[in-house]
Amino acid sequence: MQKLIHTAKFFFRKISNRTGLAARLALDAVLPLECLGCGKGEELLCGRCLESIDRPELPKSGSVFAAAAYGDKFAKKAIWTLKYKKAKMLAEPLAELMYKRFFLGHQRPLDGRSLKKTKWIIVPVPLSKKRLRERGFNQSELIAERLAGKIRDREKIFIEVAANILQKTKDTPPQARVGSKEDRLANLQNAFSAENSHLMAGKNVIILDDVTTTGATLKEAKRTLREAGAKKIVCMVVAR
Ligand SMILES: [Zn+2]
Repeated sequence: MQKLIHTAKFFFRKISNRTGLAARLALDAVLPLECLGCGKGEELLCGRCLESIDRPELPKSGSVFAAAAYGDKFAKKAIWTLKYKKAKMLAEPLAELMYKRFFLGHQRPLDGRSLKKTKWIIVPVPLSKKRLRERGFNQSELIAERLAGKIRDREKIFIEVAANILQKTKDTPPQARVGSKEDRLANLQNAFSAENSHLMAGKNVIILDDVTTTGATLKEAKRTLREAGAKKIVCMVVAR
C-alpha cells in the first residue's frame, strides 16, 4: 500500500510540474491510508482512536451539543485534515462519532420520540462562495450527509439534509483571527441569509457545524433561521 501511495505521489508531482496548481491540489488529497491517531490499519481514523476522543464539558446553555472536545488531539487533527488536506473520507468517522454520542450515548439532544413524532431537517453551516471555491467542498455538509445516512439506516428515520436554505452572504475571516467576543459577534452580523424557507415549514431544524468556539456563528445562523420561520432548533457540532 505504502509503495502504491508513494508511486501515486511521484506521478502527481511529475504532472504538477507541468500543469501547476490544479494537480498540486489533487496531490493534497493523496494521504496514506493509515489511522492518523495510532498509525495502524487502513482507515484514516480507526474505531479505537475514535472511541478514545475526549468528550467536551457539558454545555452551559444546553443548546449546542458537541461530540468531542476540540482540545483532543485526534479530534483536532481529523477536522484539520478533512478541511485542509481535503481528506473527505474523514467525514465518515466524524459522523460516526456524532451518531454514537448523540443517538446512543447518555447525552442525547433528541429523544427517539421527538425524532419520530416531528420531521427534522439538517441544515449544515455554509461556507461563503469564496471559501467554497477555494476548498471545493463544505465539510459540514459532508458530515451532515453521512450522519443523516446513519440515522436513516439504523433508526429508520428519514432526515433530509437541506444545504440550500442557509447561505453565507458575507465572507468573514476565520473566527480564531478575530479579536474579542464582541468583535466576533459584530463581524458575523447579517453574515447569513435564508432561502427556500418553505423547506422548513412544519419541521424542526438541526444546525450542524464542524467546530464551535464562542458559538457566535451558530447563534447568528440560528437567528437567521428563526426569522425565516424555523420552529425548534438544535445545534450539533463535531467539536467544541
Ligand atoms: Zn487508530
